[in-house]
Parts: sequence; C-alpha cells; structure tokens
Amino acid sequence: MTTIVTENCLNCRFTDCVVPCPVDCFHYDDVMLYIDPEVCIDCSACIPECPVEAIFEDPISEEHEKWIAINAERAPQLPVCNEKWDPLPGAEERKKKLGF
Ligand code: SF4
Ligand code: SF4
Repeated sequence: MTTIVTENCLNCRFTDCVVPCPVDCFHYDDVMLYIDPEVCIDCSACIPECPVEAIFEDPISEEHEKWIAINAERAPQLPVCNEKWDPLPGAEERKKKLGF
C-alpha cells in the first residue's frame, strides 16, 4: 500500500492531515504537502482529515501513479510539517471551486 497527496492539495495546504500522523512524514513546499513513502506506515489516519480529499491510499488511476513518483521524489528534499498551519491564501475559494 502507498499513501499519497495529490492534485487537490495544490495551493490549499490546509494541513489538517498532519495532526493525526504518528510518524511526521508530511513535507511541504510553497504550494502543497507530500508524503515520504519511506517513513509513512500507511495507517490511513490522515485520509478523512483532508477537507478536499487530496489523500489516497493505493493508486486508483493513471493520474495517481504520477503522484506516487512526485511524493517519493519531493518529500525527502523538503522540511517536515507536523503541526497545523493557516491555509494558503485563496485556499477557501479553491476548496469551493473543487466542490467541497
Ligand atoms: S489537508 Fe489535504 S489539502 Fe490540506 S495539506 Fe493536507 S493533503 Fe493538502
Ligand atoms: S497514512 Fe498514516 S503515517 Fe502515512 S501520512 Fe497518513 S497519517 Fe501519516
């Protein structure tokens, strides 16, 4: 099993997801979060916390295959996010646009 952050997190970064993570495997850049697959224990605790359904376990589409590679490549290069922050500017509008 692999747990990944996908497209809907872009420009949102609500960070609700990091709160229940027992192993601090979320990393961040200016636009979104990524999960380090080497550290994640696939406990699924983060999945229901994301208000825009950006987190998936096991790829369900070709699009998700792409995000497995992106999470694995980006996460180890970036700092850890393990506390809840204010979302990025415009995140609420983006959430509405995404239909949540
Ligand atoms: S809660 Fe969802 S949108 Fe927010 S940072 Fe986590 S994965 Fe991204
Ligand atoms: S599945 Fe569990 S270990 Fe992996 S990122 Fe989510 S909360 Fe953290």
